[in-house]
Amino acid sequence: MPDETPSLSALLNAMADTIAAHADELTALDQAIGDGDHGLNMKRGFEAVRADADAFAAKPIPDALKAIGTKLVMTVGGASGPLYGTLFLTLGKEWPAEPTHSAVAETLRKAVDAVAARGKSQAGQKTMLDVLYPVQEALAAGKAPLDIADAADAAADATTPTKAMRGRASFLGERSIGHVDPGARSAALLVRAVARQFGEM
Ligand code: ADP
Ligand code: MG
Repeated sequence: MPDETPSLSALLNAMADTIAAHADELTALDQAIGDGDHGLNMKRGFEAVRADADAFAAKPIPDALKAIGTKLVMTVGGASGPLYGTLFLTLGKEWPAEPTHSAVAETLRKAVDAVAARGKSQAGQKTMLDVLYPVQEALAAGKAPLDIADAADAAADATTPTKAMRGRASFLGERSIGHVDPGARSAALLVRAVARQFGEM
């Protein structure tokens, strides 16, 4: 994305801020259909990323994204750590030499596909993928940043009536119905944090 891109440290701080502000909410969601650690997992991971934000920002974008992915794998833990880690690692590995809008959207598609492969999961199973795929589609369709964030929130809310087919929540079967998926919610929070930075340019 051309020159008007916000700085990487601003993006990382915005992501860490929203996770910190919503950690209790993520924990409550995970208490309802999981083991209650998603808020803490995400906060630990994104505070570790925040702590190294300047070091990441000093690297070329692909290396920075890969280093962020590795940091998330090492610090988030749970099922979500390797999955968010895979998202950033793949963004780094696949980052286009010429980051046009469509090339970045295509890179995000590969990254979300890599998350699906890592989780042996697909959209519709009440996971973070239920947000990541619609976000990728909205980006590819050229939607404005804050419209993409709205699409992410709507997609997270839309996990409420679905039954979990992957991760700990799947152990609950029908009892997972009626709750927002914690990972879908954290994905929507991260998307809005990033979108706000772009939207305010
Ligand atoms: P854990 O389930 O190990 O306690 P977290 O609570 O941190 O890990 O993360 C749970 C979230 O991870 C879920 O809400 C879901 O969105 C996501 N998740 C779990 N398993 C998968 C999977 N196989 N594919 C995609 N997302 C998954
Ligand atoms: Mg959990």
